[in-house]
Order: sequence, then structure tokens, then C-alpha cells
Amino acid sequence: MNNTTDFDFFNTQLVHNVGNRVGPIAQTITPSAAFGYQNAEEAEGIFSATVNKPLYARVGNPTNGKLESIVAEFEGGFSAIATASGMGAISMVCTAFLNAGDELLCIGGFFGGTYSLVNETLARFGVTNSFCEVDDFTHIENTLKRGVKMVIFESVGNPSLTLPDVQRIINLCNQYETVVMIDNTATPLLLRPLTMGADIVVHSSTKNMSGHSAALGGVAVFRAVKEEGDKLLNAKYKDLHKIVKKMGKKAFIPICKKRAIRDFGMTANAFGSFMTMVGVETLALRVERINQNVAKVAALLDEKFPEGVRVNHPSLASSPDHARYVSDFPQGCGPLLSIDCGTKERAFTFLNALKLVILTANIGDNRSLALHMTSTIYADFDEEARKFLGVHEGLIRVSIGLENPVSVAEDFLQAANAL
Ligand SMILES: *Cc1c(COP(=O)(O)O)cnc(C)c1O
Repeated sequence: MNNTTDFDFFNTQLVHNVGNRVGPIAQTITPSAAFGYQNAEEAEGIFSATVNKPLYARVGNPTNGKLESIVAEFEGGFSAIATASGMGAISMVCTAFLNAGDELLCIGGFFGGTYSLVNETLARFGVTNSFCEVDDFTHIENTLKRGVKMVIFESVGNPSLTLPDVQRIINLCNQYETVVMIDNTATPLLLRPLTMGADIVVHSSTKNMSGHSAALGGVAVFRAVKEEGDKLLNAKYKDLHKIVKKMGKKAFIPICKKRAIRDFGMTANAFGSFMTMVGVETLALRVERINQNVAKVAALLDEKFPEGVRVNHPSLASSPDHARYVSDFPQGCGPLLSIDCGTKERAFTFLNALKLVILTANIGDNRSLALHMTSTIYADFDEEARKFLGVHEGLIRVSIGLENPVSVAEDFLQAANAL
């Protein structure tokens, strides 16, 4: 798989897509919640989607629209919907596509919020699920054969850092005409699943896409629906056929707007989308640098950590995911690495000794961040779930930022030496 990203290309694309050449160079914000219609005929046209103008901000806003077109383009997609948060994007897609009695296949480890959405909330609404390891292709294929409605996975396991064979999973989902959604939060620009045949990509734009931690947000990006033989026309999606036949290429948008956004209201707000665009302008520059920094910090810690503290990152030859990193993620697999201190007590001492790195539950920030896993995000999870997600008592998740990687490594080394 040739998966190299031309960061120079995206630097040019993003600064010019976010900015304007004429008039106000920065994006303008349209904060209005409601929009006046020219006349009764125009109102009718807007409601039936034959006139493309804003209806009411819960179902779309021009500032969100700008962000949506920018993200759709850099992801290689056809259309997008900006949401109030990353969980908003994931829950929008799940509630738009799934009915009570449907089954969801979840491959690999998941962000805690997605895991509880699937296991608790969607389960309460009658959606069943199964989870499997990224390389359990027997389970994946058997489940697809059974007629599962949707497959979801993350581009990089968080915090396990397992790397899936993205292309192989997408190909299987296409073979069995099953909608596949990939959470690409950790790897914008590094991995572009829609160009590999995926149906839906979701992001928490709160993370890498913004980088500045000034805006909570999410985006779902969609491919174009095929004019003939699209998988959405498979009998298992029969409740979508009316929309697909009427709306054609752009059907993913009304599917999500009419079956989720309109009724649940997980819509982005204009100010949040504006702040997200401020981040997106420099996304390629930051992704390139942060991924270089992660590999440098991992290498320094691998070399210098004392006995009893271990760093895990797929760039290290010791990682079980190293071969897939080299072949499929040659420019990096996102901002995360993990540190194993052995026990919770030692992990707490380590974290409390940090001087530069910030303790928080976020990832993908311009600053380097760290968090103990079992006492925070995974505190409510039972032993079996933790084991599956690769979370154990001594584990610290780290998200590397833009600081000098030598300074960041030195901060971790002095903390390790304090143990
Ligand atoms: C943070 C995160 C989410 C959820 O995003 P929010 O913006 O916090 O709702 C989903 N997936 C991944 C991989 C994340 O890191």
C-alpha cells in the first residue's frame, strides 16, 4: 500500500481553503440560528432540498458548511456534517443507520466514549454488537456473512496503539455490502480511508484537527453514493432506499440529517466551527511535526528509561505493530504513545513528577499531555473490558505535542528517575 502523504500539498490546500483571497481573509462567522426565506415558494424549496439555502441552524449553518467542505476535500470524501463533538458524529452515524434488532461489529480497541455508546446506550435501544481483535478475520468474515448492519473501527487503537489492516477490512466490508465507519481522529491526513473505499470517516475535531483545545467538535465525512449497485441498495438497508433513490450521490447527508441530527440535535455551532477552521489551517504542518516528535520521544525513552518503566509505540522495533507501522503508516500513526510504569502507585508518582507535560484527558493537543488510564477514563470498566482494550494498572497514555521533543523526553526521564 502506498500511503505517503504529501504534506506540502496539504499545506497549500488548507491555508487557501480556510482563507479567502478577496475580502475578509479569515472566515466569517454566521451565528444566526434562524434564516429568513424570500417567499413561501422559497420556503417550500428549502424544506424539500431543491433550494440550497439554510433552513434552521439545527440542520445546517453556513459556517459549519465551510468547515464541512474543507474536511470533505482533505479526506477525499464527497460531503460532510459538522457535529457538536466527536461523540456527536459517531452517535449521529450510529442512530441514522441502526435500528433496534440490528447488529454492529466493532473491530479492535476503542475510545472509552465509543465503547460505552455501543455497550450501554445503543444496547439499551436494542442494537446488539460483537467486538474482536483487529486481526481476527475469522470473526470479521463470519459476522459480515451473517448480515451485520455496520462495522466500526479506529485507525489506531487508543490507548492500545494496535494498528489494523485498514485496506483489508474495508475490502471485506465492500465485498459483503456492509457500511463501514472509521474513526480517523488520531490520523488526519496520514490515513484517508475514503480514498481506500470506506463509506464514512468520523473525527473528533476537538483533537488534532483543532490542536488548540479551544473548540469541542466532530465531523462525519461521506463518500458519494454510486449511481448503480451501491451497497446502500442492499436489502438490509431497505428503510434507507427511499432517501437513496431520491437523493442519489449525496444521500448520506439526508440520511444523517433526517434520521439523527433533526431529532437528536447534535449539531455543531458556528463559533466552534470557526475555531476548528483556525486549527485546520495549520493541520498538515502540525501533523507532520507532531508525528516526527512522537517517534523521536519514543526512541529517546526506549533508549534511556530505567529498568521497570517501558515505552510502547509502533515505531519501535520492539512493538508487535512495527511491521504494519512501516508498511502502512510510514509517516506516523498519530500523537499517542504509552508508558507502562508497572503499578498504579508508580504511575501516580511518575505523573506527579512531570513539570512540562500536562495532565488531562485530551489527546492531539499542541501541548504534550499525559493521563493514567485505569483511574480515569477506564475507571468504570470491568477487568475483561480493560484487558480487551489493552488497559492495565500501570498504563499512562501520552499525547505528544509541538514542544521540542528532547525537552519532552527529558521531562519523562526525570520523572522515571524519581521512581
Ligand atoms: C476524543 C475522541 C472521541 C470523542 O470526541 P469528543 O470530541 O470528545 O466527543 C472519539 N474518538 C476518538 C478516537 C477520540 O480520541
